[in-house]
Parts: sequence; structure tokens; C-alpha cells
Amino acid sequence: MLTNQASCKWCDHDGETLASNASHYMVDKPHPTHPAVLVVSRRHVESPFEMTPNEWQDLGDMLENARTWLAKF
Ligand SMILES: [Zn+2]
Repeated sequence: MLTNQASCKWCDHDGETLASNASHYMVDKPHPTHPAVLVVSRRHVESPFEMTPNEWQDLGDMLENARTWLAKF
């Protein structure tokens, strides 16, 4: 196990989000040369392959949001 929920900074995230749905949220990921965002699972997972089919569906929706958001730059 790489991390656990108690030491996971993403599970503790309570800052501003750019978008969210039932199982994922998206945050700004400042980068010096290009716009970037991070899409994070609300449920603690060690790998995307632990996600349920619904979580995969929500991830796809969030990636659409990411594409739309990043297209503004
Ligand atoms: Zn976590």
C-alpha cells in the first residue's frame, strides 16, 4: 500500500474546486508553462483500477469538464 486515507492529502482537501460530481473533484494545478488541472477521486483509492463502474463514468464526465476548462487558455 502506497498511502492510506489518514495520510492522504487529497482526502483532506477542503479548498476551492473548479468542478465536482458525486465521486470526483477538479482543482487548479498551477504550472509555469501551461494550464493544468487535477481530477481527484473523492473516495480514497490507490489506483484507478479500484474504482467502480460509476466512478469511471464520473471520471469521464470530469475529464470532459477538464477539457472544457483548459480550452479557455
Ligand atoms: Zn485519499
